[in-house]
Amino acid sequence: MKILLLLGLLAALVSLAAQDERPGYDDSPYLPDGKWRVHDKARPYPPVVTPGLGAAPPSDAVVLFDGTSVDAWKGGPWDVVDGAMVVNGKGGIETKEHFGDCQLHVEWATPFELQSGSQGRGNSGVFLMGKYEIQVLDSYENATYADGQAAAMYGQRPPDVNACREPGAWQSYDIFFRAPRFEGDELRSPAVVTVLHNGVVVHHAEEFLGATTHKRLAKYAPHAAEGPVALQDHGNPVRFRNIWIRRL
Ligand code: MG
Repeated sequence: MKILLLLGLLAALVSLAAQDERPGYDDSPYLPDGKWRVHDKARPYPPVVTPGLGAAPPSDAVVLFDGTSVDAWKGGPWDVVDGAMVVNGKGGIETKEHFGDCQLHVEWATPFELQSGSQGRGNSGVFLMGKYEIQVLDSYENATYADGQAAAMYGQRPPDVNACREPGAWQSYDIFFRAPRFEGDELRSPAVVTVLHNGVVVHHAEEFLGATTHKRLAKYAPHAAEGPVALQDHGNPVRFRNIWIRRL
């Protein structure tokens, strides 16, 4: 009996020691940053997060709209109907909290009923830092200028493909954004965006020419390192739900 106990204790100690010994190397060459070796056994692990299932936010996301409260936003205010924020003509809204580099998830739906065409059909927009717009529009069999259709970098670059669902259907944007960098008045590096529309990549690491504008060439003006996420009121009752963001 005593021997069995001793053996058990020994096994426990061996497994504890094995946990201490992290896999990796301490004699491999250093990476260019000079901080870590290739496969460095001492390099810290990234934090563990619980990924969202389906459309649910991951555990480390800042939830901007969960279907109930508009507390994260100022402007408008927009109405909350059946778990969605609805554009109501009271003006655009923007987050109270500001963000720079980020991963942003937004779900939106244009009206079932077609009110007009081109830019008047389900127009809204997602503005990174309040300045750089990914267009929201009903682009299901709706002709408009290409750099103004759904998922366009408005006034600059059409999406690679039109992944728009039919009017009234819920759609998603997953946006990966790198904020521009300024040094004094000089642009050091432009804003860069990757966009998935309904899971389809439509911009891959594309540079913004500058802050979004209408009928003019976008250009940069220096601004703070962080800004709000803004949603546009273009007079069409577009709905939004399940909005969350992660700082990168
Ligand atoms: Mg718009």
